Amino acid sequence: MLFKNVLVPYDESEHAISALHVALGMVGDDPDAEVHVVTVVSIGAVPGPSIDSDTFGDPLASTTPLEYDSVMGAILHRVRADMQGVINDAKDGATCTVTPTAIIAGSPVEGIAEYVTSHDIDLVVMGRRGLGALRGMLGSVSYGVLRSVDVPVLTVK
Ligand code: ATP
Ligand code: MG
Repeated sequence: MLFKNVLVPYDESEHAISALHVALGMVGDDPDAEVHVVTVVSIGAVPGPSIDSDTFGDPLASTTPLEYDSVMGAILHRVRADMQGVINDAKDGATCTVTPTAIIAGSPVEGIAEYVTSHDIDLVVMGRRGLGALRGMLGSVSYGVLRSVDVPVLTVK
């Protein structure tokens, strides 16, 4: 099989689930292949630790570094657990390895691009659109990934 390390960026949308099915259709019966299902949690998703004296003491305005770590840890844990359920439903006897991963990055595009290079990804299969409400051909994450990675990108509806 041509592709051994396939990345499916996953944002909980139906499009991303379709992408997972397409990826499994391509490499699912290759025990040497791995499908990496990756959700990127943006750093901005949780207010960061603040040392600003104006906000110090206001629990809604900021988190302490310790709280930040545990909130982020809980988010990543929850995201990974949800992904495992989706993978179990989609796997359907596939013999390739399928791994759920949740990572933190400045933006989904940055996280995906970094993951592609750090994990030797040779194909990205992703949704054309995601959870965003806007109508159109291509979402901003798909567009950004197409622009920033050097491996083939397959977008699916
Ligand atoms: P926009 O976000 O620009 O409003 P959208 O949500 O419709 O538009 P995208 O966000 O580009 O479209 O989603 C396209 C695909 O990108 C998704 O199907 C999924 O494969 C991937 N994706 C989007 N967000 C993430 C994320 N946070 N982590 C991992 N993959 C993502
Ligand atoms: Mg989106």
